[in-house]
Amino acid sequence: MFKKSAPAELVARDRGLLWHPYAPLNSRPLYAVTDAYASTLELQTESGTTHRVIDAMSSWWCQVHGYRHPVLDAALYEQSRRFSHVMFGGLTHEPAVELAERLADLAPGDLNHVFLADSGSVSVEVALKLAVQYQAARGRTDRRRFLALRGGYHGDTVGAMGVCDPEDGMHADFAGLVSSQVFIPRPPAASYDINTDSWTVDEVAQQRWEQAAAQTIESHAAECAAVILEPVVQGAGGMHIFHPRCLRVLRELTTEHGLLLIFDEIATGFGRAGRLFAAEWAGVVPDVMTVGKALTGGYLTQAAAIVSAPVAEVISGSKFRALMHGPTFMGNPLASATACASLDLLTGNRAAGEQPHAPDSRWEHSVPRLHRALHRSLTPLNSLSAVRETRVLGGIGVVELDRPVDVPAVTAAAIEAGVWVRPFRTLIYTMPTYICTDDEVAAIGSAIGTAVEKVYGP
Ligand SMILES: *Cc1c(COP(=O)(O)O)cnc(C)c1O
Repeated sequence: MFKKSAPAELVARDRGLLWHPYAPLNSRPLYAVTDAYASTLELQTESGTTHRVIDAMSSWWCQVHGYRHPVLDAALYEQSRRFSHVMFGGLTHEPAVELAERLADLAPGDLNHVFLADSGSVSVEVALKLAVQYQAARGRTDRRRFLALRGGYHGDTVGAMGVCDPEDGMHADFAGLVSSQVFIPRPPAASYDINTDSWTVDEVAQQRWEQAAAQTIESHAAECAAVILEPVVQGAGGMHIFHPRCLRVLRELTTEHGLLLIFDEIATGFGRAGRLFAAEWAGVVPDVMTVGKALTGGYLTQAAAIVSAPVAEVISGSKFRALMHGPTFMGNPLASATACASLDLLTGNRAAGEQPHAPDSRWEHSVPRLHRALHRSLTPLNSLSAVRETRVLGGIGVVELDRPVDVPAVTAAAIEAGVWVRPFRTLIYTMPTYICTDDEVAAIGSAIGTAVEKVYGP
């Protein structure tokens, strides 16, 4: 089926042919993956050296149960023996219905209605379009802009780009295409202590932010449909952790001003940020929640916009009565069946009498364990001169340098030390799989330390 190439040759075939994320056609280095199992990747360099490394990235937050999980493999295989895909227009099927029921069950409050999309960015587009339709249905056709947080990231499609940080999001390069939205300042950094179960923030900065948020929302509410943000952790916009109190403030302000509140939980959802959904840190229920990334346990691309009952009711009473979107691969059965199996593993939902699945990746057990293990393994890195700070929340660990990371050099040094990381800007970060052992988390911390020391000195 495939022309089998030696890794060096494979990389040569790739180069100049394929684009990789945010990289030039000829970017290097590039590593060939030859195998993946549990938390481990087998990589080969261009010179043919094989490295077995711990995947500290979980394939960009997705692979929560590890590679080649028997339960997910079986779910995917079983569904492929029935049908792999059918259109969703006018047709339905068991995997999609099951998945929607589970999502509605797990999501907080009255988030009871589900739109299945084919990627995170698309689910964000759906949420934004929904907000505009919602306002129009209530006679507010003038409310067509969005409020977002500075430092946020919501995807790469044109609508989503508009609500990404206006500087990082490269808005200037796409002026005229990406619409100009309204930005609330980034909330101040906060930290969570798992031992005392308490949050710390600079109270003055926090209050200043709350005032600024209120002012921005008050002066722009009349032209805006919704506020969108990543709750508690901003991911690709800078791995920034802020106080859950901000969510309550925004819930109150959006309700007061007739705006929808959209939580983008594509990165934070399914336990990653220490709660099943980061919204739960504040006990806040948004009007719309987007999920993706870990939804299928990292097997296939799928995402969802989960919508509250009252908002869904307004959409149902609107001009088109429908949410005006409908991707070809909407509700894909393979992805939906795998997602159901992944949610079972995450929540420990098993048929009575069945043995716990090994390895155990129930989020309630694994994520607090990861938090403690990451804290132990990353805190010592503060003694390195290039390290500005380390921070941890749930299954997310961040090492921030005082300078932009030399990505090829740090990546190569980390691979030598047995770990795959993909730094960006000043950040080396990790989101281990939920089956990563404490020893593996310790190895991730020490490999990052070794890499930083090799590239920047002690
Ligand atoms: C990754 C991400 C997206 C985009 O998801 P894709 O599946 O890459 O389109 C949107 N929002 C957040 C918070 C993300 O982390």
